[in-house]
Amino acid sequence: MVAILSHGARVGALLFSASVLLGACRKEDPIAPDPLPDTEQPVLPIPGRDDNMALGNPSAAITSVLTPENYLMVKPQYALAYQNSRGTARWVSWHLSTSWKGNAERCDCFSGDDALPFGFFQAVTQDYTNTGFNRGHLCPSDDRDGSDADNEVTFLMTNVMPQAPILNQVTWGNLEDYARSLIYDGYEVYTVAGGYGAGGTGSNGGTTTTIAFGNITVPSRYWKVLVVLEEGEDDINRISSNTRVIAVDMPNTQTVNASPWGAYRTTVDAIEDSTGLDLLSLVPAAIQSALESAVDDGPTQ
Ligand code: MN
Ligand code: MN
Repeated sequence: MVAILSHGARVGALLFSASVLLGACRKEDPIAPDPLPDTEQPVLPIPGRDDNMALGNPSAAITSVLTPENYLMVKPQYALAYQNSRGTARWVSWHLSTSWKGNAERCDCFSGDDALPFGFFQAVTQDYTNTGFNRGHLCPSDDRDGSDADNEVTFLMTNVMPQAPILNQVTWGNLEDYARSLIYDGYEVYTVAGGYGAGGTGSNGGTTTTIAFGNITVPSRYWKVLVVLEEGEDDINRISSNTRVIAVDMPNTQTVNASPWGAYRTTVDAIEDSTGLDLLSLVPAAIQSALESAVDDGPTQ
């Protein structure tokens, strides 16, 4: 099933790229000056739907029922590693560019993920009812509105974690909005995100460590790492020590909105220490270590 889906996605992406390329050539033909020889043609910046895991597999997850704590799920819209004992993902990874965007309506169709193997805990939307926590998307609904089908996949409960409403709707949400604004300024963005620890404070007050009769852990912290590139191709090889990397680590509480998202910036190294993950693992080692030890100080809106 996974193989069939990803093959279909690849064919779709190729067809999409080809049509964009044709469109771009047609547009430029009348104004093109003396064309360069083929070997010197500049690479056109084509916003594509690139590999959601282009920056690596942060936990070396595999799709095996023998690894329920680190179970890789690759969907055309995003990839994740499921951790059965927490009832949520360890991380979710996705690519964002204008080519993922469209006019599909937010479906609000939360549903259990039937792609989980038999015997794994499978969250349902009712697990969150009256808990004081939102069903917080990792890969946002608004990042995947190119079609109804793309949008629906973001509502699978494997892409959802319990988030304090203020975190979800304000601080975390503002960073999602900021990331989407970048794609209209000529950028494409790779994101990896997740939660760690246990114990959050939702709208019911107090500290809650689990919901769903202990099957879903409420993280104490949420983290996210964004890699921002100018639109282009061969993305992994264009990442340099000057590439903008935004890493944040936020408390899963109702008081998080006391500060804007930029106040929660940290290093990728700190997130790796807290989570045990290896982020940006496909970035060459020297560049990876330079990028991971710096705190972003770029604009926040
Ligand atoms: Mn690209
Ligand atoms: Mn790393």
